[in-house]
Amino acid sequence: MEDDNLIDMKEDIVNAGRDLFNKGILENNEGNISLRVSKKDEMLITPTGNNYQKITANQVVHMKFNGTALSTGKLPSTEAKMHALIYESRPKVKCVIHTHSTYASMLSIIRKRIPIIMEEQIIYLGGSIEISPYGEAHTDDIGESALTALSYKNGALLANHGVIVCGKSIQNAIKNAELVEKFAKVYWGALQIGEPYILDNEPLDKFRDMFKKLFSSCPRSMLKDI
Ligand SMILES: [Zn+2]
Repeated sequence: MEDDNLIDMKEDIVNAGRDLFNKGILENNEGNISLRVSKKDEMLITPTGNNYQKITANQVVHMKFNGTALSTGKLPSTEAKMHALIYESRPKVKCVIHTHSTYASMLSIIRKRIPIIMEEQIIYLGGSIEISPYGEAHTDDIGESALTALSYKNGALLANHGVIVCGKSIQNAIKNAELVEKFAKVYWGALQIGEPYILDNEPLDKFRDMFKKLFSSCPRSMLKDI
């Protein structure tokens, strides 16, 4: 496999940011998007104080997982440590996206997990969307908390903060960021009008198999018992 083309990857991050901004999932100066640089302990990540409408590819930051800058100019997102920790712990993850999307953030502040309410939740995310223990922003704590909540899955809520998603590709991660917000909105809405029917006890193995084959991004060993 050829080495990654860093310019194309930076463009992919810019386009993903614009896409998620236009859909109301990301807001300026909030959230962040990163991509793993293959075969190296490096990533590309949106800069701190980012404006998703104005950002250009040359403002995307190239850095090592240990924090060493490999590009000049903008400083990396203050949540870079959380992204690096996920890449180091989950070798198949190619893209990490963190958002403060509204409905998911609402659930995160009442510390309400999203049980399995729709089949596609299993296919793309792996099942229920758990909520992390509280971790102070910009520290190692929040990265550890995010990993705990993610477990083998592709998305989780961060207590009193927002959302973390990952994927084997940038397209998967974008879809996961959108889905977490959609499920949060649907679940919130359902709670307003009645008691949601939860699918946890239905036979869902078919959808779990699809997740395992198509979209899981965790080490294979984590999938044994699901
Ligand atoms: Zn944040």
